[in-house]
This record gives sequence, structure tokens and C-alpha cells, in this order.
Amino acid sequence: MTFSAKIVLNNWMRRPFLAANWKMNKTIPEALDFMHAFLPSVAGVRDADIVIAPPFTSLFAIAERFVGTNVSLAAQNVFYEEKGAFTGEVSPLMLKDAGCDFVITGHSERRQYFHESDEIVNRKIKLSLKHGLAVICCIGETLAERDNGKTFSVLAAQIAGGLAGVAPQNLVIAYEPVWAIGTGKTATAAQAQEAHAFIRKELHSLYGDDAESLRILYGGSVTPENIESLMACPDVDGALVGGASLTAAGFEKIVKFTRGNTL
Ligand code: PEP
Repeated sequence: MTFSAKIVLNNWMRRPFLAANWKMNKTIPEALDFMHAFLPSVAGVRDADIVIAPPFTSLFAIAERFVGTNVSLAAQNVFYEEKGAFTGEVSPLMLKDAGCDFVITGHSERRQYFHESDEIVNRKIKLSLKHGLAVICCIGETLAERDNGKTFSVLAAQIAGGLAGVAPQNLVIAYEPVWAIGTGKTATAAQAQEAHAFIRKELHSLYGDDAESLRILYGGSVTPENIESLMACPDVDGALVGGASLTAAGFEKIVKFTRGNTL
């Protein structure tokens, strides 16, 4: 089946980008129930990019529901080869075929539980971009790294390694401090802005002025209650949301953060 890409990443503006990462949650019927409530509720949103990353098993069924809507589909992971004897893996071509426009790479849970290095992340990004998938590349420090004053050096290494030889087109960065993911401990707006400004400075050294048009999302215990203060930071261009994206009402409120949730 062929799906048409809805999102053209605009090089000259950083409009809000709200992405849901469902992780290993929801069966196909549960995913479709969510869409039944969610899609009409955000149909009027024209000034933000909305992306949902369900588990692999729901991708195709959801892609069919997304046709003609303002919501785009992402996969949570991808492999760095096109095809072959890689049992259990899924290639960028297969994700495109299933209707994805985006893929998440480098999520801290994949780095932690599946030992993904910056080199692996880099290979995944390159092959995904080559096959027309836009990439949401996650970076972030652990609590121990933060406590030891290593936040900036960790971010710099993840950027240098993950983005080596990668062009800025169709790229979105997600800053996700590991200590804030799924813990209820959100970074303060000041902590988020400090890290995002550093990331943009690093992106400047890689991409020059193109860094100004790259969107940097914050991720880590984002909720309908804290999204507005995070989005008020000058270098926070959106959010990657785990737990609070699992209910249609919760993610709708996050998507509509600037409108007093009334649209
Ligand atoms: C995530 O999984 O990317 C994430 C940020 O999760 P949570 O919002 O639940 O912290």
C-alpha cells in the first residue's frame, strides 16, 4: 500500500511538533479506539505537527486511519540494513511500506536495554533518511552523568557520534534526560532550556545556520500541566511524550497546549 507523506519539514520555521511514543503499549483494537476519539478532537489543529509512534503491530492498521488527517505515523525503532537474514528486525523500506513518515532512533530505553551505541544510531539514521523516513533522534544524559557534571559532554558525544555524516534535512532532535523519562521528574523549564540551547549550539557547529530551523523536542514526564511552561522556552520546539500520550484526552490537551485546551 502506498501512503503519501503529510509532513514536509519546513527549513525556515520551527512550528510546534508534538509526538507520542506509546512504547510497548496497546493492542490493535486499543490503538484504533484511541484514534476514534483522538483524530476528530485534533482535526482542527493546523499550526502544529502531530505524530504518533505505536508498536510495530499497529502501524499498518493505524496508517489507514491517518489517510486524509493531520496526524503522521512514526515507528519506535528500525534496523540499519535494507533486508536479509536479520530475524526479528524491521527495515526502513518496510516502515515506509507500512505507512510511516517518521522513525524514532536512539531512545534511551534502546540504548540501555539493547546496548545501542551512537554508531548503531548513526547507521539507523542514515539508512532511514536514505529511504525517505524523517528521523526523531533522541539524546540525553543519565542522572549519574548529570550529577557528575557530564551532561554537556554526553550530549556533545551523542550528537557527534549519532549525526556524523548526517544532513539536517528531515531531522528532529529529542532531548530526553534519562532521569526524567517515566519517573514523573520533569526537567524544569530552565534545565530544559539550558540543555536545548547547548544542543542548538552543537548543531550550529555541524550545520551552520540550518541549526536554527531544526526542531529540538523535550521528552521526560511531559504532561498537560507542564507542557505550556516547557514550550515557552525559546529553544524548546515540541515534545516527545510517553505516558501522558496513552489516553486520547491527555495527548489532545498536550497538542492543544497554547489554546487553553478549548479548540
Ligand atoms: C519517552 O518515552 O520518550 C518519554 C519521554 O516517556 P515519558 O513521557 O513517560 O517520560
